[in-house]
Amino acid sequence: MDKSTHDDVPDSVLITPTAPIANHTHGGRAKCLQRLVRLDLPVPTTVALSFEAVHAIANGGMPDLAAIVGCFAPDALLCVRPSSEDPDWGGPGAILNIGMNDARYVELCQSLGREAAAALYLRFVQSYAVHVARLDPDAFDDVEDNGPDALSEVLSAYEAETDEPFPQDPAEQLAAVLRSMARAWEGTSARLLRQAKGAPADAGLGLVVQEMVPGYGQGECGSGVLQLVNPGTGMPQITGRYLSQSQGRDALGAGTEALYLERDARGPSLEESAPEAFADLKAHASLMRRRLREEMQVEFVIQSGGVHILDGVRVTRTAQAAVRIAVALAEDGIIPREEAVMRVDPRLSAEVLHRPGVPDAQGRGNGGGIAARPGAATGRLVFTAAEAQASAARGEPCILVRRETSPEDVRGMHAAVGVLTERGGMTSHAAVIGRGLGLPCIVGASNMKFDTRRKQLTAVDGRVFVRGDIITIDGSSGAVLAGQPEMLEAAEDGAFQTLLTWADDQRDIGIRANADTPEDAETARKFNAQGIGLCRTEHMFFEPGRLTVMREMIFAETSKGRAAVLARLLPMQRDDFQALFRIMEGLPVCIRLFDPPLHEFLPTSKTGQRELSEALGIPVSDVTRRVEEMEEYNPMLGLRGVRLGVTVPEIYDMQARAIFEATLDASKEGEPVVPEIMIPLVSAKREVELVKARIDAVALAVKAERGEDFTYRLGVMVETPRAALRAGEISPHTAFLSFGTNDLTQMTYGMSRDDAGRFMSAYVNQGVFPEDPFHVLDTDGVGELLKLGVQRGRAEHPDLTLSICGEHGGNPESIAFCREAGFDYVSCSPFRVPVARLAAAQLAISSQIGDSRKKSAKL
Ligand code: PEP
Ligand code: MG
Repeated sequence: MDKSTHDDVPDSVLITPTAPIANHTHGGRAKCLQRLVRLDLPVPTTVALSFEAVHAIANGGMPDLAAIVGCFAPDALLCVRPSSEDPDWGGPGAILNIGMNDARYVELCQSLGREAAAALYLRFVQSYAVHVARLDPDAFDDVEDNGPDALSEVLSAYEAETDEPFPQDPAEQLAAVLRSMARAWEGTSARLLRQAKGAPADAGLGLVVQEMVPGYGQGECGSGVLQLVNPGTGMPQITGRYLSQSQGRDALGAGTEALYLERDARGPSLEESAPEAFADLKAHASLMRRRLREEMQVEFVIQSGGVHILDGVRVTRTAQAAVRIAVALAEDGIIPREEAVMRVDPRLSAEVLHRPGVPDAQGRGNGGGIAARPGAATGRLVFTAAEAQASAARGEPCILVRRETSPEDVRGMHAAVGVLTERGGMTSHAAVIGRGLGLPCIVGASNMKFDTRRKQLTAVDGRVFVRGDIITIDGSSGAVLAGQPEMLEAAEDGAFQTLLTWADDQRDIGIRANADTPEDAETARKFNAQGIGLCRTEHMFFEPGRLTVMREMIFAETSKGRAAVLARLLPMQRDDFQALFRIMEGLPVCIRLFDPPLHEFLPTSKTGQRELSEALGIPVSDVTRRVEEMEEYNPMLGLRGVRLGVTVPEIYDMQARAIFEATLDASKEGEPVVPEIMIPLVSAKREVELVKARIDAVALAVKAERGEDFTYRLGVMVETPRAALRAGEISPHTAFLSFGTNDLTQMTYGMSRDDAGRFMSAYVNQGVFPEDPFHVLDTDGVGELLKLGVQRGRAEHPDLTLSICGEHGGNPESIAFCREAGFDYVSCSPFRVPVARLAAAQLAISSQIGDSRKKSAKL
């Protein structure tokens, strides 16, 4: 029994309070059972086999079976269950009723009755035949009932298939069960399956051999599971199943409906039929919760009114329940708050915030693409921004379908309930804006055919959807579905807010939000962002009434003419900024100066150009010519960002003035505002010098005109590799550097953020990239540029504030990188702020734990 196979680990050991059993030698189930034994719970006799012992069994060895069997009562039936280090890694299914044979059957017919004895034996023969002898399941599963006739049928089937009678020696049965379970674990498919769940290649399996409590006899008898929470919601509620034998129910029959613990139409509840057993169970469950520091599902048997605890497993739970359970455990003083924060997966926490979407959407979709923003939405198909607005005006929810979106579509996106595009990846325009607006969004749905001219969408199976048809997009799975499937609603969650407050107490990196509109800013505040890290101002020019003025500015022939038109945009921009300052009062707001190429504001269709010629009172040919003149082969690398600021400086002048005037106005009403102004797409120091000189001049002019003072912070967006490399010479001219990793990734890889979606899955599937670098920061390549930028920038300007404002800012791995690299804050879409807060807190807690481990190792 205690023959050692490795150091001090015996190959099998009776589970007692002091037996040498550990997670890493015998697995989680064995360890948990030992904890239950230590709690003095009524656990049947159990023997644990170590990883080493099971590995040896798989290779033809066998522990001292007589010693194992000797631990149990002579006529006991046994069961064997897997015990892997992490329950998520799975393992072979449990085998019950080992020891059943013809002789035991005769005995049990006397004590339990023929039907019950036959059911026990039958079940054992079935699982032995299929899982141990590996016979064809069809020959054993298709029996009519559970009675004696079925039993002789399966015993004959066994003999016919193997040319041997069913084994009668309990020790031989046990040996075969142990061997089959050990070998199943070492099989290739089982190994691949668990490796996919994160198990190391050499993960071991332990086994536990337990005496079975029959759950048959006098008085209340039966078996079931019980937990103290609802696993769907995490709310306190006793849930579970109980199969009562004594109430005449066929407790062991395959597919028999469970009798719930609470009263139902079919009979009394367990609480009514056996109140003492029920009270004991509840007490045991709450003791387990307290002492195992986890919400546990109790597996139990009731034998003549007495409770036996067979096992305890962590309650499987939804994301929402995971949050509530962690918070409740901390509030009850069972675990510290830091541990509650650590127990919730930040990625899953997004599900708590968004509509979880369509259940099983992936398998049911008519097409799909990249899931760019979680949540599901149903609406009528529309193909233009104008149609989306018209639909919203009629009060009809709509899904905006575009080949790709441009700033011109933003109004339509505001009006839609969801967005679907053919092209684009995680950082394409549609994805970024969708996340900003909290709009379910699928991009890169290239397996569907988009015919925006004829306003139809062809699904993978050839089904054609036309304008007005109802579809559902599930931004959590990327699936597009016909009609309106049933949806799971997300709940507003107080527990999640509590958890985030605890997370904030631990966090050591700032979290801001990318917010362009007052609605975004409200969301950012609601999710406790510590400011706005990026306000993309170009979207403001697409507001109704502004687009035409903007176009007029583009058509102005002279600088003076341009300035005159911009003067009409000034008060509108001032109102925009003032609204943001007001909402974010007391928190920093970082405004990025105009970034996109101007031609994005010009109409491409003939109708649009005709309308513009009417609005501006110039010939259509002039409009067409100007549109053609401004066209660029590669606009992402063309006249945009600071290049516009240098060549058409009036736009930045106007924006700076609007920011400063709004600063003074907002400061009068509340706390003083210190605006942050950010220059996009910088690649050379001289660009910063030129823009800075003009902005300083505007600041002086506004101060002089208003006779009031203010300060502001000027910063540079590092979005080109050159800006990162030359950060040392740029940083003395700037208060902060904000890394725009969307463009920086695009330029580092030389890969269009709008087109990469077409080949990204092929690249990821073939292992060229481990992940979509627009989604998860490429810490090797782009990361090296970030590190260089940080080092060189800080070397020349030690007080430099450093941040990231690309979409990566909301991704837990990227936050880890930024925190390590010494960034002050990350900025991400408002809806990702809670996930970022949680992820950042977990990083801080992990490093505190690491630090204290290092300290105690030194002592
Ligand atoms: C970036 O490039 O990372 C960025 C934040 O700017 P935008 O996405 O607007 O180009
Ligand atoms: Mg950019």
